[in-house]
Amino acid sequence: MKIIVLKFGGTSVGSIQRIKKVAKIIKSYSKKYNVIVLSSAMSGTTNKLINMSQKISKNFADNEYDALVSAGEQISCSLLAGQLLSEGIKSRSWMAWQIPILTEGKHKYSRIKYINKTKIYKYLKSGGIPIIAGFQGVDKNLNITTIGRGGSDSSAIMVAKFFKADRCVIYTDVQGIYTTDPNKLISAKKIKNISYEEMLEMASLGSKVMQPHSIQDARLNRINIEVRSSFVNRSGTLITKRKNIVNNKIITGISSTNNDAKVTLLGVRDRPGIAASIFKPLYLNSINVDMVVQNISSDGKETDLTFTIKSYDLNKTKKIIYNNKNINFKKMIFDKNVSKVSIIGVGMITTPGVTFRMFQALAKKNINIQVISTSEIKISVLIKSNNVAKAIKCLHKEFSLEK
Ligand code: ADP
Ligand code: ASP
Ligand code: MG
Repeated sequence: MKIIVLKFGGTSVGSIQRIKKVAKIIKSYSKKYNVIVLSSAMSGTTNKLINMSQKISKNFADNEYDALVSAGEQISCSLLAGQLLSEGIKSRSWMAWQIPILTEGKHKYSRIKYINKTKIYKYLKSGGIPIIAGFQGVDKNLNITTIGRGGSDSSAIMVAKFFKADRCVIYTDVQGIYTTDPNKLISAKKIKNISYEEMLEMASLGSKVMQPHSIQDARLNRINIEVRSSFVNRSGTLITKRKNIVNNKIITGISSTNNDAKVTLLGVRDRPGIAASIFKPLYLNSINVDMVVQNISSDGKETDLTFTIKSYDLNKTKKIIYNNKNINFKKMIFDKNVSKVSIIGVGMITTPGVTFRMFQALAKKNINIQVISTSEIKISVLIKSNNVAKAIKCLHKEFSLEK
């Protein structure tokens, strides 16, 4: 029989009533497929656990963080397996260490490298439905690890890869991937098919419906992903390779972030290598620099440099810059009330004028653009956070996404 992987997100297993509904969905597949289930923690649980760790210390040990926050999945998986058992269906929960799901990399941000198939295969053959904990793994020393917030999506894709699943379905609380967050813009439209490339950009640029790593893993392994709702039985979105998609839209979607910070260094004494001197220590401290602009002064001796980082990295960044003996500058200023709004679409590769249309639409609404960055299939602008909703609305209209 063919294998299907079903992943349920936090809201989908957020209450006992929801878990009962999910059991029904699982049952509906079990006649046709060998079902492997991946579950997130019940919604709110992971945040609650993280908050507790923060009350102990802002520098809570990373290995204990992983042991703590991975616990949420143990609860949801055992409740779900228990529900299936109570309905007479053979099922059991599997934590990552019991399989094992092996990860590599640092605590909190590990990546799944290998999944041992033996026990799960045996269990499937015996007619059981395994409920596997998403988000967690173990390293080679059997320490518990986690794979980044929203990581159950990645767990599902990697299980689909290792078990050569026929299908991988991500069940969530919206009906699929929309042109923009449907909880933020009512006229957002469900997308039927979207390419890995566009989905990866949307996810990386703030559309949290899928974790970015999961899309990378799916693209590398050519795994089609169906995203659909566990609340209503409607067709969802297929994430697949570009070749499978016919799309006449220039822009496919709009994403936004809500945790950016802007740092500007005024009067930096300019010399070759100065940008590298500023950014190297940030890189060494795992601080991700995103957008960058540099202006040269008229005499060519000084420069102003602006860049963006995640707002939770701001204090660390300030310290690193002030302590950097290799650079000289007059003043450092920051702004935490900024957000990045991005338009994404493979159509822009072949269509001229997209940048102009984006900037003009924002200008008409009096929205000032602070920093710009582009790639082949996306244009991002940094604007004041309180303009985000207005920006998304006008861009959605400009590129006819509601149609
Ligand atoms: P789950 O718990 O199922 O993993 P998430 O909360 O991680 O669900 O992701 C689903 C949420 O993603 C939706 O409720 C929606 O608000 C948000 N979202 C952001 N951008 C989009 C988009 N373009 N399409 C659909 N949902 C989006
Ligand atoms: N429970 C984890 C989180 O909240 C993983 C997930 O939901 O995918 O980040
Ligand atoms: Mg999620």
